[in-house]
Amino acid sequence: MARAAVSRRLTWQVGQLVEARAETPTARTLVLDVPDWPGHLPGQHVDVRLTADDGYSTQRSYSIAAPADGDRVELTVQSVPDGEVSPYLTEVFAVGDQVEIRGPVGGWFVWRPADTAPVLLVAGGSGIVPLMAMVRARRAAGSRTLFRLIYSVRTPADAYYADELRRRVRDDAGLDVTYAYTRTVPDGWPGQPRRLGVADINTAGWPPDLAPACYVCGPTGFVETVADILVALGHDPRRVRTERFGPTGG
Ligand SMILES: Cc1cc2nc3c(=O)[nH]c(=O)nc-3n(C[C@H](O)[C@H](O)[C@H](O)COP(=O)(O)OP(=O)(O)OC[C@H]3O[C@@H](n4cnc5c(N)ncnc54)[C@H](O)[C@@H]3O)c2cc1C
Repeated sequence: MARAAVSRRLTWQVGQLVEARAETPTARTLVLDVPDWPGHLPGQHVDVRLTADDGYSTQRSYSIAAPADGDRVELTVQSVPDGEVSPYLTEVFAVGDQVEIRGPVGGWFVWRPADTAPVLLVAGGSGIVPLMAMVRARRAAGSRTLFRLIYSVRTPADAYYADELRRRVRDDAGLDVTYAYTRTVPDGWPGQPRRLGVADINTAGWPPDLAPACYVCGPTGFVETVADILVALGHDPRRVRTERFGPTGG
């Protein structure tokens, strides 16, 4: 963490895949070993660059899923149908293979374990990734800061880190997790599938009077809707930080 510089000059480094695990049928966590990794803050992301044998190269952004831990950089990638990069990373990229990685990137969408304001995390789909880094960093630092996570997924099978989140709610005092389902609810769930609305965020979030730090991450439309709701509920826009997982590349 001490080496995590937010504004240093970024250079491409080589990362080697040392571990991979399925999070859902279409999402995979990749643990990369990146020698001399400078460290990072929860919420930051990296650029990943792939280069073909003919020299063609392309890059995408991926959030870091876990707090700084030496040379380990953990990502979770959702396979986007017909995508150029994500199907490769989720289905082909094998332990021992290498990619180029550049980062850490981003200095605003970050949570520091020294922060004590209550935290509201709102994730849509793969938008959970940087928020999970915050949940894990809170635990690693022994922080008592109050955290509430609202996690919207299509179906129960699409929820990342489900076992770990269940465990953390049990063991990490001051962490609450509320799920919302947009397509299929679990058996016995009280209610129908639906998109997150004002009532959900009002009930499962913090009152604005507590001046919580809000972090919202997911697809662009989701992020804009949730940010608008938070502001309409009376949260100070300066305390609503957003990260949009729109298409990246080049
Ligand atoms: C700051 C930042 C952090 C990100 N972090 C993560 C992360 O932690 N995990 C993760 O899985 N992704 C993350 N993304 C999204 C990621 O960068 C890529 O956009 C995504 O993996 C798709 O790339 P692709 O090459 O497979 O698809 P492309 O070949 O770029 O696109 C294929 C098709 O899918 C559409 N598309 C592209 N991206 C998305 C998307 N995100 N959702 C829905 N449709 C899309 C395109 O418009 C196009 O029609 C992040 C994006 C940003 C900007």
